[in-house]
Amino acid sequence: MEKLYIGIDLGGTYIKGGIIDDKGKIKAFKEVPSERQSGAEKVTNNIIDLVNGLVLESGLTIKDICGLGVGVPGIVNQETGTVIFATNLKWENYPLARILKEKLNFDKEIKIGNDANLALIGEYKFGAGKNYKDLVFITLGTGVGGGVISDGKLITGNGGAGAELGHSVIVAGGRKCNCGRKGCFERYASANALISYAVEEVRKNPASLMNGLRITGKTPFEYYEKDESAKKAVDKYIYYLALGLINYANIFRPQIILLGGGISKEGEKLIKPLEEFMKNELFAYGKAPDVEIKISSLKNDAGFIGAAAQFIEN
Ligand SMILES: [Zn+2]
Repeated sequence: MEKLYIGIDLGGTYIKGGIIDDKGKIKAFKEVPSERQSGAEKVTNNIIDLVNGLVLESGLTIKDICGLGVGVPGIVNQETGTVIFATNLKWENYPLARILKEKLNFDKEIKIGNDANLALIGEYKFGAGKNYKDLVFITLGTGVGGGVISDGKLITGNGGAGAELGHSVIVAGGRKCNCGRKGCFERYASANALISYAVEEVRKNPASLMNGLRITGKTPFEYYEKDESAKKAVDKYIYYLALGLINYANIFRPQIILLGGGISKEGEKLIKPLEEFMKNELFAYGKAPDVEIKISSLKNDAGFIGAAAQFIEN
């Protein structure tokens, strides 16, 4: 009989969950608001309702599930199943796995992990990262998340606190970051950074076609060909993005850099110029092994598929 797992992607706004079979196929999907402002207990109860809803609607019981994985936006101790620190949720030392196990009356294993790391696991086992063993994964969303697999092993660092790729400084004394440092990669390569570049350009040039628009991460790409300010904003964004990516390429020398998150939807508009930067700046380009850049393929499903994929060998 096929084995079934549940994967949960706990986000700041929504909780996504799915029942996944051992081939990585989604058998059922559900999404509910996380309601993080109402506190950890409420969020946990929402996860429980989602899990119960998934099994019920699939005509199963919790006993049919062979493992439950949860991706959390923060630092996680995988050994104890405790969320050590999650800024956006305002959680500290929260024993999520233990509470879920008790409340769900679940007698199999619960594994929690960092959300970006688990999304990377999803891509690695069932998505665009499938045929590689050295990968760097970067999500370009409101913030910048990251994960690294080196020689088939996920690099989590001591106590799961490593691989915070968004918080390496690329501009000394630069823009202030939520983490307390100045000039973090996240402040220059997130969707929010791109929006701020566009807003700054419009301020300098009120004749810009973007003036008066509600600017999102898509807007400057949309106007790239016909508006000088949009072009400047995007070019600046890609310059900083390339700076960070080439640093990671030099440190880890992955076979592939996978891009996820909202901005990654721009596809070739990102890949083409990034490849050009790689060619000019990557250490020993053309002599040492090449570094490919690709867009992730599981998109918004990577998080919960990866959470379940922790249990799946392939
Ligand atoms: Zn930072």
